[in-house]
This record gives sequence, C-alpha cells and structure tokens, in this order.
Amino acid sequence: MSNPTVKEKIYHGIGASPGIAIGKVLLIKEHNTSYVKPLETTITAEQVDIEIKKFELALDKTREELEELQKRIQNKIQAHEASIFDAHLLIVDDQMLLHEVQDSIQNQLTTADCAFFKIMERYITAMSVMKDAYIKERVSDIKDVASRVLANLQETRRPVLDYLEDMRIIIAHDLTPSDTVLLDRKKVQAFAIESGSNTSHTAILARSMQIPSVVNIQGDIVSQIKNDEDIIVDGFIGTIIVNPTEKTRKAYQLKAKEEGRFYIDLIRESRLRPETLDGFTVQLASNIETIQDVQTAKKFGTSGVGLFRTEYMYMGNKALPSEESQVETFTSLIKEMNGEPVIVRTLDIGGDKYCESLSLRKEANPFLGLRAIRLCLHECQDVFRTQLRSLLRAGAAGDLKIMLPMISCVEEVIEVKKIIEDLKKELSNENLPFNPDIEVGIMIETPAAALMAEHFAKIVDFFSIGTNDLIQYTIAIDRDNERVSYLYEPTNPAILHLIKIVVDAAKKNRIWVSVCGQMAGSPQYIPLLLGLGVHELSMVPMSLGSVRRIIRKLKMHEAEVAAEKALQCANGKDALNISLELLKKIAPEITDLAFRGL
Ligand code: PEP
Ligand code: MG
Repeated sequence: MSNPTVKEKIYHGIGASPGIAIGKVLLIKEHNTSYVKPLETTITAEQVDIEIKKFELALDKTREELEELQKRIQNKIQAHEASIFDAHLLIVDDQMLLHEVQDSIQNQLTTADCAFFKIMERYITAMSVMKDAYIKERVSDIKDVASRVLANLQETRRPVLDYLEDMRIIIAHDLTPSDTVLLDRKKVQAFAIESGSNTSHTAILARSMQIPSVVNIQGDIVSQIKNDEDIIVDGFIGTIIVNPTEKTRKAYQLKAKEEGRFYIDLIRESRLRPETLDGFTVQLASNIETIQDVQTAKKFGTSGVGLFRTEYMYMGNKALPSEESQVETFTSLIKEMNGEPVIVRTLDIGGDKYCESLSLRKEANPFLGLRAIRLCLHECQDVFRTQLRSLLRAGAAGDLKIMLPMISCVEEVIEVKKIIEDLKKELSNENLPFNPDIEVGIMIETPAAALMAEHFAKIVDFFSIGTNDLIQYTIAIDRDNERVSYLYEPTNPAILHLIKIVVDAAKKNRIWVSVCGQMAGSPQYIPLLLGLGVHELSMVPMSLGSVRRIIRKLKMHEAEVAAEKALQCANGKDALNISLELLKKIAPEITDLAFRGL
C-alpha cells in the first residue's frame, strides 16, 4: 500500500535493462573509508562462518595493502618512518584480536564489521585514558588500520547481496560488474544506480540476468531515498518512482502485465525462422556471461552462442579457474547447445572489469590500457595459455570457436595463432584430444581493426563487431562515464561507415561477420544492421524475440535502402530516425512497448 502522507517522487535515468518491478528499497550506502561505526546487524548461525571468512579476507587484504605501501615509500622516506607500517602490520597480525572478533561473531551473532568495530572501540577507549603520551599517540595508528580493515570488510560485504532475505529493489551509487554477477536473481527484483551507462558491463549483466534496471539516475538518490520505501523501476524508459500513488501503482501493474503477455507471445514465436519477407535468413545467437544464461537463450530460440564473456569465470574469485574446470564448463556449454556453434571470447579483463586473482596494476586510463588481448599477451600469458588449452580441448566435443577481444593490429593475431600452434603440439605430445582445426576469429572493437579489416580477413575465420567498444573508441567517450553518454550514439554515421567497411571486407574474403555489441539486440538499429549486410546478430537472450519478430516483418530491400540513406547522413539523430521510421511502420508494437511512458 502506498503511504498517502509521503509524496510520490520521480527520478530519471537511462533504462539499462527492460522490465517493470514494483517493490521495496534496499539501500546500499557507499563504503566507509573512515573510522565510522557500522550499522548494527545481526546474522543467523549459518552466516557465522561466512562472516569469519570475510574478516580473515579483510585482514589479508589490509596486510597486502600495508606491505605494498611500505614498499612504495621505503625508497622515499627514512627507514624509521617506513617502519610505522610495521606497527600497523602488527595490529593486522594480532592473533588475540582475530580470536576476539571470531568469538564475538560466533557468540553474539553479529556481522564482522560490527564485531571488529566494538573491539577496536574498547582498545581505543582504554588507550585514550592512559597518561603515557606515546601510547596515546598510538590511538591514531589504530584508527588508521581499523578504517582500512573496515573499508575492506565493507567491500567484501557487498556480496551480501547474494543472500538477501526477501525480495528487494537495490538503490546504490554504483554496482560493479563483479557485484552484479553475484546478485541473487531470485531476490533482486531490480536495481537503480546513480552511475553507469547503457553499455557498461553492469548494464549488460542486468539484461542477461533479466533484472530490470535504470542507470545514470539524476538527483542524488542514495541520500534522498530511504530503506524500505515503496518503489517502482521502469527499465524500459529509465525512470524510478518512489512512494508511488495508488493510481501510478495500478498503471504500472497494468504495464507489467502487458509486458508479460508480450514476452509470452515472443516465446511462442521462438521456433519461427528469422527470415525476412523476401527470404534472407539471419543467424540469431546469444551473448552469455554464465552457463545459467543458456536456459533463457534456449527459451527464446537461440541459434548458438555468439559471445561467451569468459571473464566472469575469473571474477569474484580468489583462485584462477583450472584448465580442467574450464574444459568442463566449455564442454557442458557445447552439449547444452546441441550442435549449435559456441563462440568463446578469450579473457577480456581490464577497462571496467577487475579480477582479484590476477593482481593487476592500477592504470590512469584502463579502457586504453593493458586490457584484454594486450594483458593476455604481455602480463598473463600463462593464464591465457591455460585458457587456450582448455578451449582447444573442449573443441574436440563440438563446434566451438575462439574469439579474440580488443584486437588493434595484425601482430596480435599472428602472435596468438603461434601460441595456439604451440599448444596443439603440447596437447598432442600429451595425447589429449583437441580440435586441430578450431576456428579463430576476432572482435572488431577498435577503429584500427575496422579500418584494417581487409588484412585481418585474410588471417582469421570470422569477425564479430563489438559495437559497445567500437563506439567508445571511435567517438572517444568512456562507455562508463555518464557525463559523456549524450555522445554515445550507435547511429553516428562514423560507426555506420566502419561497420560497412568491415562487412565489405568480410564479404570480399568470404568470411562471415556478426555484430555482438548491444546494438544487435536493440530494435531501433536492426533495419540498419541488416541493410548494411551483417550475417549474424548476437545479443542478450531476452532480446531475441523482438529482433526475430522485426526480421520477419522486414524486407531486406527496404533495409538496404534505409542503410544507404543513413550512410549519407551528417549526424546520428537523422540516421536513427530513418531506422526508427521503418521500424514503426513494420512493428509498431515493439516501439510502443520499448519507448512508451505512462
Ligand atoms: C563490445 O564491445 O561490443 C562487446 C560485445 O564486448 P564487451 O561489451 O564485453 O566489451
Ligand atoms: Mg568489448
């Protein structure tokens, strides 16, 4: 029931994952990096071990930070000043403290941060009343270490999101991709965050996980919205409504029902061929992040996996996945797909994706740094080789292809191919089965790769255009930076021209080309992509239904005319309107649902 004494309030952002959710707020405040009392929270007996583990991990992380700090400043300051960190390390290594916190978690059923804070408070109070000036001064050291431990603890507390007690809508300043992949799909109805953009990996994950979400919300929601307030999230048009009136709630209940009916209709059509009215068949494949996504992909009638983002096998884990466990994952994926092709992208860490187990260095411009293939070739070749070995081995079980991310020059492909040849020899010496003819393709995500497509087409088996990055790198806008998101236009004619260059090079060299960026799953761009000659569209499984319906209502000839016109446009808006006009004419029900407010 809505509360009539509180006013309804609407906030606007960007719809990142479609769907309507009506529920109650779970507010996630920023991590405290100062010494502040955490919220008193009780836990159940089952959570005791988890909290103790978190405390141990936070101590480990703090120890690593302090040692790193100590190393970094050792050369710059006097030895005795650097030894201040010895004192800090002593606190982190104090066994008595560790046992006291463990006892408190166990006996008082409290979270690790509350237990730790209470014990530190006791020490600090005792030390503050002492006469000895030296001891008194140590209070600030203790507070310093304590705030580090608390910050690390609260960071490790984020996975708390994977064991919510009841259904909630999360409100936060930010959720990282590793926070998001851990969300409990059954309990998190939706989320709304202040940061991010439509193509951030957090948004991509939300769509895969079918969690309605809104990003880039204006209006300081974290301090305005309270825990437990009633809220509606409209992931279609990108709004959230706090304390909705009864009238608004009813209208949204209706919209949610219509949405449900719409998706049921689309699922019914999932066996229909994705063929245009004039007889051109387009391959419709899925982008997946975890093996669980395969079920949705199958439900919506996928013809294979066009992009498996393997980095999530490495994220949120202290240990790297073993070769055997990777072979197992890829083999079961091949089996699940029943003979349909499976394209696995090699590790794409860097940019906005962080991986604890790889202990990467911080970079000023991570999207332009040692990301993806660069990292694999230069800093993590052993990890990369293990992944390639597992792909070659799993390839023996069916149609698995290797795809390389963020390629910017032919040397990178040549180097990877050499490694692959080397690994084939290794595997045959070890008598392990593998696919000697495994196909290797590249993602076209940099303007350099697009412009050099003619050359790449001669040394690879396929192209997949990653428009999310291609747009970021061509228009020079950080895809996660909400302040420049107004420039993020997939129909910017510069992008359309690059796609055309890639498609033409692929056709000339008789290799196939797909698009696997967000553009491929967005109804408004489908006429242009088909008109430009793309063979396959790979997308978040949930979008397969709408895209199939559009293809089946489209004439390729009309799409080609639209694409030709769009290529002549001077700006992205005009090009988008050409595509939208055609879409509204052939499938108005799709534009209605996607773009309609209340
Ligand atoms: C892309 O860049 O379009 C893409 C599909 O890769 P990711 O979104 O994972 O960077
Ligand atoms: Mg990319």
